[in-house]
Amino acid sequence: MVLNELGARINGALQALSKEPVIDDKALDALLREICGALLESDVNVRLVQQLRVNVKKRVNMEELASSTNKRKVIQNSVFDELCSLVDPGIEPWQPRKGKQNIVMFVGLQGSGKTTSCTKLASYYKRKGMKVGLVCADTFRAGAFDQLKQNASRAHIPYYGSYTEADPVQIAMDGVSQFKKDKFDLIIVDTSGRHKQEVELFAEMEQIAAAVKPDNTIFVMDGTIGQAADAQARAFKQSVDIGSIIITKMDGHAKGGGAISAVAATGSPIVFIGTGEHMHDLDKFSARPFVSKMLGMGDISGLVETVQDLQLDKNEDMMKNIAKGVFTLKDMRDQLQNIMKLGPLSKLMGMMPGMSPEMLKSMDADESTKKLRSYMCVFDSMTEGELNSDGKLFDDEKRLHRVARGSGVRMVEIQALLMQHGQFGQMVKKMGGPNGMLSKMNPAA
Ligand code: GDP
Repeated sequence: MVLNELGARINGALQALSKEPVIDDKALDALLREICGALLESDVNVRLVQQLRVNVKKRVNMEELASSTNKRKVIQNSVFDELCSLVDPGIEPWQPRKGKQNIVMFVGLQGSGKTTSCTKLASYYKRKGMKVGLVCADTFRAGAFDQLKQNASRAHIPYYGSYTEADPVQIAMDGVSQFKKDKFDLIIVDTSGRHKQEVELFAEMEQIAAAVKPDNTIFVMDGTIGQAADAQARAFKQSVDIGSIIITKMDGHAKGGGAISAVAATGSPIVFIGTGEHMHDLDKFSARPFVSKMLGMGDISGLVETVQDLQLDKNEDMMKNIAKGVFTLKDMRDQLQNIMKLGPLSKLMGMMPGMSPEMLKSMDADESTKKLRSYMCVFDSMTEGELNSDGKLFDDEKRLHRVARGSGVRMVEIQALLMQHGQFGQMVKKMGGPNGMLSKMNPAA
């Protein structure tokens, strides 16, 4: 069962409890049966599910709680708290400190998403103003350095690696000392995820760790691996001192429960989850907002962080235009681009409180994201003069044909886009200009 469905099922069970006329042990058992069944189907470790059942039952004392309202509340709160403790080992995660040269080492099996996550993390801290460098210490997999180089270049992150040096420990040391010399704030070392023998892989990780002395070791785990996660996490934990965890591929159809249970095996906190293949698809993880979002209760803190993080374009040109009562196609494009920077609309909507998984499904936010992308192709096919216009130029069908051919978007859709632009333009016209609402509100504008 994928996480959205898990959330919906737990939510459904809690709602059903609200409708029960009498809250007794029988009702509680039925609720726990449903919740535990759903958790097991999502690959959450059996021991943990059993623990959750015992803990909730311990917290809910039917005799002591007088009214049914109280009982419902206590049950709901304890289920929520227990779900949170499934994903929260109660340890404050390590954070890189500004003004210090922080070294982070990535470990995890090949294919888990290690290299991708290294670049995502580097990019995350670069956006926070840190000077970040990437070191590729994977000499086992042919092409590992090229992949890191490609990802890093795309994100404009400095990198270090070698085509000739075969010793990963040497590369790790050289890379770290070079970035240290150049006063980098955060140095991320990517290691190999496979060897001929598992013992060799772990031995190599230990040697690299001993050589670069990381401040934090991040274990990367594939969110789709199910029950095998527990054994995998234990094996890594035995060799290296895992400081934190990143779970990848939590987009789409990941059950996630297996990897999430790995938290208990390592006792280390999940710090981020990977939600796609792109650079921005890395979400900061905190237990309560995560559970809240899974149950359709939203994640306001995540939404605020996403918006702050992206440093959206303030677009002063557009503000000046609007004050004058002008709204060009370029203004529209810039605004839509801002919306797209926030990520897929489905992800944003999932952070809104009250958006249940069913509602999200019915709104088909992914369709809207696709539409926005097609609008960008339309804008890309326009000339500078057309973009800076109010759109009336497209009364000329020849132009419309040209843009449709160039963008691969149907003419009717372009006409719909122009109509939306025109309607908004009318509003702006009323608001702006010397006699507009804006000038009355703020005569200096
Ligand atoms: P490594 O061998 O552990 O370094 O794994 P890679 O970083 O090469 O990733 C393996 C594959 O997983 C690549 O195709 C990545 O694009 C993909 N991948 C990594 N993270 C995510 C994620 O969060 N979501 C999805 N959908 N794919 C991911």
